[in-house]
Amino acid sequence: MISAVLPTYNRADLSFVRGEGSWLFTGDGRRYLDLAAGIAVNALGHAHPALVERLTEQAQRLWHVSNLYHIPEQEALAQALVDATFADTAFFTNSGTEACELAVKMTRRYWYDRDQKGRTTILAFEGAFHGRSAAGIAAAGSEKMTKGFAPLLPGFRQLPWGDAAALAEAIVAADVGGVIIEPVQGEGGIRPAEVAFLKALRSLCDQTGVLLIMDEVQCGMGRTGRLFAHEWAGISPDVMMVAKGIGGGFPLGAVLATEKAAACMVAGTHGSTYGGNPLACAVGGRVMEIVSDPAFLAEVNRKAGLMRQSLEAIVATHPDVFEEVRGLGLMLGLKCRVTNTDVVKACYAAGLLTVPGADNVVRILPALNIPDADIAEAVARLDTAAQSL
Ligand SMILES: *Cc1c(COP(=O)(O)O)cnc(C)c1O
Repeated sequence: MISAVLPTYNRADLSFVRGEGSWLFTGDGRRYLDLAAGIAVNALGHAHPALVERLTEQAQRLWHVSNLYHIPEQEALAQALVDATFADTAFFTNSGTEACELAVKMTRRYWYDRDQKGRTTILAFEGAFHGRSAAGIAAAGSEKMTKGFAPLLPGFRQLPWGDAAALAEAIVAADVGGVIIEPVQGEGGIRPAEVAFLKALRSLCDQTGVLLIMDEVQCGMGRTGRLFAHEWAGISPDVMMVAKGIGGGFPLGAVLATEKAAACMVAGTHGSTYGGNPLACAVGGRVMEIVSDPAFLAEVNRKAGLMRQSLEAIVATHPDVFEEVRGLGLMLGLKCRVTNTDVVKACYAAGLLTVPGADNVVRILPALNIPDADIAEAVARLDTAAQSL
């Protein structure tokens, strides 16, 4: 008989009743060091006092009102995001997938408004992940995500990852209206795009007028040591998807865009019942205050250096288990020589939570404020796990 919860996940035999910082606790008193962070969601760890305070304060006052009214918490968060980024405007969603939907709609409408209605194709990349909606799976295009779900939403074409020549050839086609890319692929196995590739992408978009959409759902909000990962390449997108870390664990996402890209989205073209509700935006506003602080980001970079150095040492000690460390900031991956899910299981046995990714990678996505002592403990547990393999 099917389980009461639709069994679309292969779940570990683990369940947690409480979290504190980088630690999760089971009902029977075991504790696990959390390098998964809800897959890059709990950016400030579990039960961060400032977030608990902001959430409870807002919860006592006002949870939800419709977007038929002005929502001050939403306006404040939008202003903070606009002030800190390339963007001129923001629309709030409840997830990364919903952000993908709007990014796709905005791109199509942008060309519709310019009377170039044929520019409906968005170029995407192999190994990409943009969510599980009809648009998201069509953008990714992989067999794993699309099998059995035909007919797929038309208008996507996948290119090889990091191949500037293939991109230059594809982008000049008359039907291309946008390019969607994760500056660091997450589900795809922690694969950062080369800076030179991102610069080439930006200049090809400038030459052709094609919109550049960055999916920073996993790599954004300070994860790589900059507020947004594309900043490392010294370029900016026209449209950006954000989610995961922005709510610190409360469901929240956003699409940020330049005025030029967004001007087509006039009243009535898009909406969301829950998107931008006071509770989510209050928490998101607090996350943004903390994460966008240059001193906080400097600490992320310092911790990332420490974590990376420690992981390099683990790889050197266990060359039969691990091949290399890859990634940017605290978005790290261990490319494995043994099966990555076996490593994740061995980590569970050592009291450590990690996340498998494609390309036989184990993802290391700790809270951005993980204490140095917890980094040392995590590496010791990873060493124990690797020894057991
Ligand atoms: C997780 C993720 C999404 C989808 O976000 P949801 O909140 O699960 O809908 C989209 N893009 C990237 C890069 C992601 O990592």
